[in-house]
Amino acid sequence: MFWRSTDGKDKRNGSTSPATAQSANGELSSAPSFGAPYIVRPVINGVGHAPNLDEPKPVSARVITSPIDVWLKGLHDKYRGSDHGHLANYIPELANADPEHFGIVLAAADGKSYAAGHSEVLFTIQSISKPLVYGLALEDHGPEAVLRRVGVEPTGEAFNSIVMDEVNNRPFNPMVNAGAIATTALIRGNGVEERFKRILDMFSRYAGRQLAVDESVFASEQATGHRNRAIAYLQLNSGMIEEPVAEHLELYFRQCAILVSARDLAMMAATLANNGVNPLTGQQAIAAEHVKTVLSVMASCGMYDYSGEWVYRVGLPAKSGVGGGIFAVLPGQFGVGTFSPLLDDHGNSHRGIEVCKELSQRFHLHVYDMHFVADNIVRRSYRGDGVTSKRQRGVRERKVLDACGHRIVAYELQGGLYFATAEQLVRRIVDDAPQSAYILLDGRRISRADQSALMLLRDLNLTLQEEGKILVLADLPAQMQTDWLALNKGVGEDLCFADVDSALEFCENRIVLETDPEAMGKGVSLALAEMDILRTFSPEDIAKLAPYIATSSYEAGARIIREGDPADRLYLLASGTASVNTVLDDGKRQARLAAFRPGVAFGEFALFDGGRRVANVVAETASVCYVLDFGNLERLEATEPAIYRRLLFALGRLLTDRLRRVTAEVRALT
Ligand code: GLN
Repeated sequence: MFWRSTDGKDKRNGSTSPATAQSANGELSSAPSFGAPYIVRPVINGVGHAPNLDEPKPVSARVITSPIDVWLKGLHDKYRGSDHGHLANYIPELANADPEHFGIVLAAADGKSYAAGHSEVLFTIQSISKPLVYGLALEDHGPEAVLRRVGVEPTGEAFNSIVMDEVNNRPFNPMVNAGAIATTALIRGNGVEERFKRILDMFSRYAGRQLAVDESVFASEQATGHRNRAIAYLQLNSGMIEEPVAEHLELYFRQCAILVSARDLAMMAATLANNGVNPLTGQQAIAAEHVKTVLSVMASCGMYDYSGEWVYRVGLPAKSGVGGGIFAVLPGQFGVGTFSPLLDDHGNSHRGIEVCKELSQRFHLHVYDMHFVADNIVRRSYRGDGVTSKRQRGVRERKVLDACGHRIVAYELQGGLYFATAEQLVRRIVDDAPQSAYILLDGRRISRADQSALMLLRDLNLTLQEEGKILVLADLPAQMQTDWLALNKGVGEDLCFADVDSALEFCENRIVLETDPEAMGKGVSLALAEMDILRTFSPEDIAKLAPYIATSSYEAGARIIREGDPADRLYLLASGTASVNTVLDDGKRQARLAAFRPGVAFGEFALFDGGRRVANVVAETASVCYVLDFGNLERLEATEPAIYRRLLFALGRLLTDRLRRVTAEVRALT
């Protein structure tokens, strides 16, 4: 028979590896299917040339250094010798710091860190505790209640200045001592120990390790911190804070004496960059809703009377402490922690400031330096007459879909969905809506979606529904799907599909049902004469063919074709539905390669190239197939050559139809 290879051998079992292509019915075909095995050679400069894979070039196994490490080390070297600034000495114990200590750590929002210098040396956190404790106060009381007690206006004065917002009877902001003491006074708990434990536990969650207090620094400040005591009693006198003032002060001095390293500070900053979740431990250090409030006061007041120039030059929310630490946050991206105890006149670490300035300039980190604009959210779009689902359609369904498939519009989305990109998408959908009845969003390449974007789409969904249009979603990231379903209760929960193909099929089925309800032939069992490839056969032809055809029934879920079996028969689906699925490279997700409904033929490639089945075909519902095996086909050739020829011709037509559709799809997608 001409469709068999001349030597009768299965060409795919040879030692060469032919270029293969998966057909719509799950069979692997060699390309071209006939003649000698086909070997693909890479063409370099137009000349056929295969690389010598027997002696591959050895790979250098040396570890290479990230340019970020190189750059940080260079920065460290540059400022290591600087002796600008002085050690804090108003807390006697701080005067014992080693002025040589200098460390820089950069931590990405996913926890990867880069360090230079004394990244692990411990020092007291001091004022960097202020934004963190402020976060805890926000959790304890909510933003409005906290705002009534502590303002958010920069003072333009030193960190320990004794100035109050007398109009509102509150300290100006939580980043200067007055505001920080009032903030600490708000921390809930029974007695100083319980209250301090809450603070220490929270700091530890930020750092991702258990932190401790430097008792000598604490004792030193507790013994000498009269100015802070004066501030606290002044506030008590004006009703800004309540008793027990001595306990609030002890708590405040303790929180300032917690020991951290530059690495801890970087991880704390990365935790803020990561919406309050420590990226290495996964622990929530602060509720995500308060992160922006904490960062706001850091940005406006974090560097005391240098805050204005800091925002101007560095442009990152940050906080410094007289222990020599600074931490800075680039929201969503990473955190920085620096340590050098030599302070400038504002009480900020001199080297730390210089490092942050250079870092910001070199990598364009200023939060207002928006050098990129919103990405294109729609990667491409197509309509349902160009790209169809993998469901093989019968003649009548095909007719409906050829005429009406364009009512489906699909948008392949990419990147993040936030206000600007959601606006782009909504605009596209609105513009295209007059021609669309089914709007499909392919979310496979979406990285994330924020609440504002989802609300915008939800509002659009409601408008579309009023117009009788249906929004269908496919392959959304898990979190986005959960959020979407929560937002759209009662409107379209059933319109989220695991993959684009099922979503597309759903839209097609709806169109077929609306237009020609009988075309799908649901539940009926088709006669042999009603098979798509036999439609041109006369009743006499069918009568001659029938004796060569067997009938097989399958339960729902049963395998009709098993991977690895010899491909020696053709199937015609009489009733039920069946599909070919394959597991994708990630080993988890499935893709549907093809799906069949009554009337269609599958397994037909086998007739032309023999070999073995390369995928399973499974009955989705209880199904019946007409089966023509090779033995009978050969008998048919001998006894009914005219019928045999007609059958081959019909199969040829089937293949060209499929190829045409694939060509149209390639065109629609490029
Ligand atoms: N414990 C120090 C104080 O209250 C913190 C000051 C600071 O780091 N700027 O004075």
